[in-house]
Amino acid sequence: MTTLETNTLKVENSALYQPPQVEMAVVLESALRENFAEATVRIVDCPDLRQEPFGLAAAGLCGSTRVVEVGGVPNLVPLVKRDRLYNLWDVPAACGLPEGMLLGAGAGPWPYVGKNSEMMPNLSVAASGRVNNSYVVTVEKSGMVQAKLPEHEARVALLCNAFVSKGEQGKVFEIVCKNRTGEENFISCLRKALHNRYQDRTVAMGGVFRIEAGKARVHVMPEFSETPLQCDSEVANWLQFYEVSSPLVCLTSFLSSDPGLDFRLEHTHCFSAHGEGGHYHCDTTADKVHYRAYLNLAERAYRVDAPAATHQIGRN
Ligand SMILES: [Zn+2]
Repeated sequence: MTTLETNTLKVENSALYQPPQVEMAVVLESALRENFAEATVRIVDCPDLRQEPFGLAAAGLCGSTRVVEVGGVPNLVPLVKRDRLYNLWDVPAACGLPEGMLLGAGAGPWPYVGKNSEMMPNLSVAASGRVNNSYVVTVEKSGMVQAKLPEHEARVALLCNAFVSKGEQGKVFEIVCKNRTGEENFISCLRKALHNRYQDRTVAMGGVFRIEAGKARVHVMPEFSETPLQCDSEVANWLQFYEVSSPLVCLTSFLSSDPGLDFRLEHTHCFSAHGEGGHYHCDTTADKVHYRAYLNLAERAYRVDAPAATHQIGRN
């Protein structure tokens, strides 16, 4: 199977609205307090996110920040397009960054894994070398199985949503919240707060959060469906859902609205030191849950190889 090189693919991009950080902190904190018993949003110096418990491929989330979507759900639904296999090492450059880090949520490289899987891309390209801390999770008879990808294996299949930056340290949002009292998951709460405040001006963010206490509902994609998946309920019936335990490290990117590039608005995948991971839907232990996040604003949105024939199915 040929890996698609992003320099041969269509890439579109758009500037994003950049609210003042202090104003955003107020907007996000007040929305979180509607959905959690306790919430604080502070602007802090980014800790070294290469360290445990995060294990990112670069130290920070700053410098020429972008959100990017590669491919899209129409490459999976209604039927898989096996020719859509992308080289993630090239994606920072496709976003204008010859050196950079990328983290997010995608479909694993089935030619290597041997089947469909969830991927947690987490890699960096720098003059000093490449780092690849990406994981995949598959559905097995015994349950889900998480595996670290080899250093050289940085392909993603079908679709990927990611946050890209120079990976530098700098000011970021530190968000801590506990005990969910509302219905929104952590990221939807932030995304909808930005949409309510900024309306048609698209604001996008990305980074890492950790579910430090409680459990979460995730899905893992099983083998590709041989029958066409025609609606959200058929997709949900095909997916395998699990309840997984904290601590979970979650890689996320989200946009308050679509900047006209057919973006999926939020996508979060998680991994752990205890072998559980997948696509994050929500915590399942509202009275126990505890989130800690380090997020940054994106300056631009990049869309790589957007499927020409698109739809809204399967974007949850
Ligand atoms: Zn996913």
